[in-house]
Amino acid sequence: MEYLAASNSGSAALFAAAIALGLIATVACVSVLRARRETQIIARIARERARRMSDLLRTIGMAEKMAGLGIWQYDPSTGAQQWSLGMRRMFGVQHDEPFVEGDAETLLYANDVDLIGNVTKRASVQGPFAMSFEINGASSDPRTVSVEACNLRGDSGEVSRVVAVLRDVTDEKERERELEFSRQIAVQEARRARDLADTDPLTGLANRRRVMAELDRLIMNARHSEGSLVLVLFDIDHFKLVNDTHGHPQGDKVIKNVARIALQQAREGDLVGRVGGEEFVWIVPGANQEFARKMTERLRDAIARGSSVGEVPSVTISIGYADWQAGDTSLTLFARADTALYDAKKTGRNKVCMAA
Ligand code: GH3
Ligand code: MG
Ligand code: MG
Repeated sequence: MEYLAASNSGSAALFAAAIALGLIATVACVSVLRARRETQIIARIARERARRMSDLLRTIGMAEKMAGLGIWQYDPSTGAQQWSLGMRRMFGVQHDEPFVEGDAETLLYANDVDLIGNVTKRASVQGPFAMSFEINGASSDPRTVSVEACNLRGDSGEVSRVVAVLRDVTDEKERERELEFSRQIAVQEARRARDLADTDPLTGLANRRRVMAELDRLIMNARHSEGSLVLVLFDIDHFKLVNDTHGHPQGDKVIKNVARIALQQAREGDLVGRVGGEEFVWIVPGANQEFARKMTERLRDAIARGSSVGEVPSVTISIGYADWQAGDTSLTLFARADTALYDAKKTGRNKVCMAA
């Protein structure tokens, strides 16, 4: 019985051991399978990430190419540089050419571009910063490259990486230059057209249109600054006789000569104009009555003594002038000077009269 009991308990122990071993083997097997499965999952994730990374790089490469961009990264602590395909292309490196260590320095040096020196100088700059330089790259003509860079900082504030986007702006600059050139031509043309519209073709003096516009402007100034202004009108005496005696072309020469002498008498800032056949205007900003009397007298004398042209003896002029008074418009001022001129004609010519 005892034997039987002993033999029964021995087989139970054996059985238990066998079960335990079986369990251990199962657990080990499951662990191995799980580990293998995990390895497969990790490998799949890694493959997926690598594929995405490569897609991303390809997309960035395409975007760089389409936009004519290049990306440069620089680690100031190690001096390591990363050149994107776009940047390499910009500097004339073919797509399939190997880009080995040292090529970056060589290319920057060959193009005389101190990119590292420039970003180092701006290490304290917080926001993005810009610069530009010229390179030869693959072409024989220099290309203009604009650079937008940014300092990325570590925890203690030191620059851990500089990231820069380079853009070939040569064509853009060329278009801007062309546009600016066209703009300047247009401005010149407009100025020429305006000058033509404002100028008397015979004498080159301001015409009536310009005289009246300028008079309006000066009167407005005088109103605001309580300034003074004198308007002088003068007309060649018996000019019809000059034409009748010496012919129209000679008469033209006399008109031009009178204009030249009047311009000589004018100061800078004055305006001399021709407002009729042989009738002229002289606008004198800042002049008072006394000054106006002296200068008109001097003009009258200069014409009377020096306006002779060839066979044509000197002509004389009659002058009327008016000083601007509060309330005067260009038309009333003009009318007062005209009345004074009429008085000068009426009372003997070759003389100066002041408006009442
Ligand atoms: P007054 O002393 O009263 O001013 O007499 P005037 O003969 O000068 O004046 P009038 O108005 O009788 O004649 C002006 C002349 O000026 C008549 C016209 O043929 C001439 N004239 C107007 N414009 C021109 C021009 O551009 N060239 C020439 N040569 N003559 C002109
Ligand atoms: Mg006349
Ligand atoms: Mg006249």
